[in-house]
Formats: sequence, structure tokens, C-alpha cells
Amino acid sequence: MKTEADLKHTLRRIEGRGYKAYKDIKDVYDFGEFTLFIDHVQGDPFAAPSRIRAQVSQDIAQFPPDTYSKKDRIVGLCDLLTRMFSQSARHIAKGHRGTGKSGMIEIDTPGQEILERTSVVINRNFVEARCVMGLPASGRRILAREAEAMFFDELPKIVSASLRVQDNGKKRLHKHIEVYEDQCWLRSQLENLGLVAFIANGSLLPRASGVDDRPLSTGRIVTFQSPPSLEMTVELPNHGPVLGMGIPKGVTLIVGGGYHGKSTLLDALVRSVYCHIPGDGRECVVTHSDAVKIRAEDGRRIEGVDISPFIKNLPFGQQTISFSTDDASGSTSQAANIIEALEIEAKVLLMDEDTSATNFMIRDHRMQELVSKEKEPITPFIDKIRLLYREHGVSTVLVMGGSGEYFDVADTVIALEDYVPRDVTSEAKNIAQRYKAERKHEGGTVFGTTTPRIPVAASFDPSRGRKPVKTDAKGLRTLVFGRHTIDLSAVEQIVDRSQTRAIGDALLRASREHMNGRRSLSQIMGLLMDEIETGGLDVLNSKPLGNYALPRRFEVAAAINRLRTLRVENRRTVLN
Ligand code: ADP
Ligand code: MG
Repeated sequence: MKTEADLKHTLRRIEGRGYKAYKDIKDVYDFGEFTLFIDHVQGDPFAAPSRIRAQVSQDIAQFPPDTYSKKDRIVGLCDLLTRMFSQSARHIAKGHRGTGKSGMIEIDTPGQEILERTSVVINRNFVEARCVMGLPASGRRILAREAEAMFFDELPKIVSASLRVQDNGKKRLHKHIEVYEDQCWLRSQLENLGLVAFIANGSLLPRASGVDDRPLSTGRIVTFQSPPSLEMTVELPNHGPVLGMGIPKGVTLIVGGGYHGKSTLLDALVRSVYCHIPGDGRECVVTHSDAVKIRAEDGRRIEGVDISPFIKNLPFGQQTISFSTDDASGSTSQAANIIEALEIEAKVLLMDEDTSATNFMIRDHRMQELVSKEKEPITPFIDKIRLLYREHGVSTVLVMGGSGEYFDVADTVIALEDYVPRDVTSEAKNIAQRYKAERKHEGGTVFGTTTPRIPVAASFDPSRGRKPVKTDAKGLRTLVFGRHTIDLSAVEQIVDRSQTRAIGDALLRASREHMNGRRSLSQIMGLLMDEIETGGLDVLNSKPLGNYALPRRFEVAAAINRLRTLRVENRRTVLN
């Protein structure tokens, strides 16, 4: 291993030379307090910044073994260390030191969710931060003295401020890990408790704005308070007993006047398939891990999806057992989104009238009279929602302020009034009794079968120009895969750009390693996620990258389903 002095020497030697000479510093250096890995040196000052790792031995870092004794704790701890590194880098790194990215020192910056990521690695031997640095230049000439300041002054300060146990930081450390562990534990218990979600009293659900996921902090804020009939206590391993609202399995409606907080409640459920940081307001809101947000998404591509439970007999005899289109309508896209979620075993569907296609949700009596069932290809969701639960055990939480027809099919009805929830189930049932629905049930007696799909590996081409592989996250919900851009803007449960990046490389891996012309999409997702579970996100790349965050199988599959070149084969029975 080289020494600090070696790096200093090389930097002095290349001072003022052309940028390419920076390649000479790619190596491993002993910095005393930590080991510095310079893994990748950027080609010019504007290119993606250089990748480095700082590794501190546990002899120095001294994290107590119980902070990384279990997977859940490791994820919580690494999340906090990433935040601390990010914060210190912002304070300590001077930033602009020349052209382009000169002077930048950054690590992946998490949002309100705590996700498994690759930015920090911890084990018995060491803790490692993976960050990027913009090696400084003036024009394209190396500014080695500036680089020296970054490596020898700034980086060691950032490392010691974040990668070792600080006496004054112990409380924060334990709190962060415990809050995370509690959420994971509760999520794992929901199934046994017969719940699809739990919202603790005192939770703060509204967000700062539509584009800012931090808690709302101005104006009148109403914290969450469960209606007595749905109130229950859960016993968390660290926090102890917590009182809140359990949303039972089955069909749940969220009703109430406009602007009374319906979508805010649903959105909290949508994002609480992930854990939240202390202080977020949702750190005791937990949703079933197999809950999927469903919405209409007109314009999306659909490939070989069996949407026949919802849509049959399209004009001109178009079949729907293997339905494909380059430009889906609102209703067909919503139907496909549901079937695709069921295909990989979603257990809860989360839907909001705001983002649903009306003709997919309901067909009222008068419309049934005017347009006969034979002339309407769509079986509305209201006529399948109970069959979905009865036959497949799939629950639905639905925001529906616009149609009382759903009272007939609901198990639980929650009304929001001035942001306060009330259990109005029996009221709604009484109303349903008093005003009998005139509409006819159109959904038959069974949900209907769906056909598994077998993705064709050859339809995944990651090449772009001379590059054999090009995958990249262009923003939160836009994924570049080869020559194609996958639009994920309607995939609301992608919450972090590093998830999008991981999804890109997961597509590549799935197509190369797991698609063999026989496996169904569901089997492929199973193999991929198992592999990540065992080997960590690093299995997605041969290089140690710091900017992956873990997506769920639903979001990976959502990207596959939206790849415009995707081809699938349908088999009624799938062989292993
Ligand atoms: P709805 O879907 O019922 O029309 P929204 O959920 O969109 O209503 O909420 C309307 C507005 O009220 C939003 O700006 C939201 O931030 C705010 N809001 C929601 N819940 C609360 C709350 N508990 N306290 C304060 N403001 C809230
Ligand atoms: Mg709304």
C-alpha cells in the first residue's frame, strides 16, 4: 500500500499538467486514520466526478457491535452515517476550486426515507464511506495544490467527523437505529395482526409541499388521532407500547369532502412501505411491504398483459388475454397496472380517485341502461374489488369522495373531517341499506384468471452508440436504458434517485442472468431480489459504487413493464 507522502509526491509531480495525468493517482493509500481508495479518476473536470472510498478500521471507528449486529441495524446505522458524512462534507468542503466539478466532495444524500444503500459499508473490521470528488483544474490544467488541500485537509476532517463514534452523537445513533428497527418490526407484524397499515396517534402526515417531502411546519397542523373503534396498541421492541389506528385487511374506503386530507392520508400510506427518519412525522406510520400504488397512466406501453378480468371484447375483436399497446388509455393502463402488480404478488392496492380513470372505477345505473354490458368492454373495479380480496387475499385502500356506490363493497369506511378521521362504517352501511343501489353487478362470480408472462432477454438492449452498456438515472423517475428512456413518472413508490439507478442495473442483470426463455417475470424478480438480499446491492456492479439504494421488486418490474422494447411470451402454465 502506498503512503500519504506518495500521493503528495505524485500530486506535486503532475501540477499544471494536462488533466489526464490525474490518472496517476489511482491507487490505495495509507492515511493513518483511514485507508484511501482512489477507485476511478474522471477523464476531465466536467465528467462524472472521481470515485473514492475512505475506510476506517473498527479499532479507530469503535462502533459498538450491537449497532451493526443485525441487518436492520446495519441499514439504520449506515443511513445515519451517510447523512453525517453528507452534512460534514457540505460544511467542510470548500466546493468551487476551479473548472467544472473542481472541489466537489459529495456522498449520496438520502431524503426522508431510510433505505438500504451502498454509500456506507460497515462490518466487524471497518466502516467505509463511498464518495465522489471533483479533482480540481483550471481549464484542463491540473491544480494539484487545490487537490492536496482536498485530500489532506478536507477529507480527513470529514472522515473523522462522520465515520467514528462521537461521544456527543451516541444518543442520536441509537435513536436512529431503534426508530428504524421498530418500523421494520411492525411492518413484519402487520400480516399477523390482520392489518394492511398502522398509523400512530400523533403522527404528522402533511408534507411541506408537493415537491418537498419534509413535514409541513407552517400554519395549522392537525396531528393524527385514531377513531376509537379502530384504535389499538402495538408493542414496539424499542419504543414500547404505541396507540394508533389499524387499517384492517379487506376493502377500506377513505371518504370526506374535498381538501379534508384524504390524499394526504393515502400518500402517507404509499410512502410508508419504507421507513422514515426520526422527526419525519411518519416514523410510526407503517404500510404492508407488498402494498402497491395503482393509478391511471395513459400513454404508457403495455406488453402482453392479460387484462381480461377487467377488459374484454374491445372494438374490432382485439383480444385482451395478451394485450399490447404503445399508447394505453386511462382505463386500460389502470387495469394493466393492477394485473402487473398481482403478477408479482402485491397484497394491497392503494388507489386515489384523483389519479384514477372514472370509467375504470364505476359504471352507474343510468349508464348501464344506456350502454349495455355487451357494448362496454370494461368491467369496473367496483365489481371486482371483493373478488380480489376473497380469491387472492388482496386488500384495497381506496380514496373515494365521489361515489357512494362503493359503500356496498367496503369493509371499513373512514371519513376525514377537517383532517380528523372518523369510523363511519355503520353509517355508510345504513345508507347503503336505505338507498339500494340500482346498478347491476357486472363482475361475475370469479375474479378471472391471469396469464403469466415470460420476458424475452433479447428485447433488453443496453447498448448506446459505441458503449456496450449505458444505464443511468436522469432524475428521480426517468431511467436511461441503452437507447431508450423509461418513463417512471407514474411509479410513485420510487422515492430516491439512487433506487432508479439501481433499477437500471437490475434490469441489466435480470435480463443477462435470469431470463432464460422459461422463467416468468415473477420468478425472475424472486431470483433477483434473493440475490440482492444475500449479496447486497453490490451484486449489481463489479465496481464498488456508492450510489445505489434498494428498490422493491414492484418498482423493478414496473421499469421492465415500461421498457418500450419489451417482448414477452405468454404461457398458461409456466414450467420451472
Ligand atoms: P383531499 O384529498 O381530501 O382533497 P388533501 O389530502 O389533498 O385533501 O389535503 C388538502 C390540503 O390540506 C393539503 O394542502 C394538505 O397539505 C393539507 N393537509 C392535509 N392534512 C393535513 C393536516 N393533518 N394538517 C394540516 N394540513 C393538512
Ligand atoms: Mg385528493
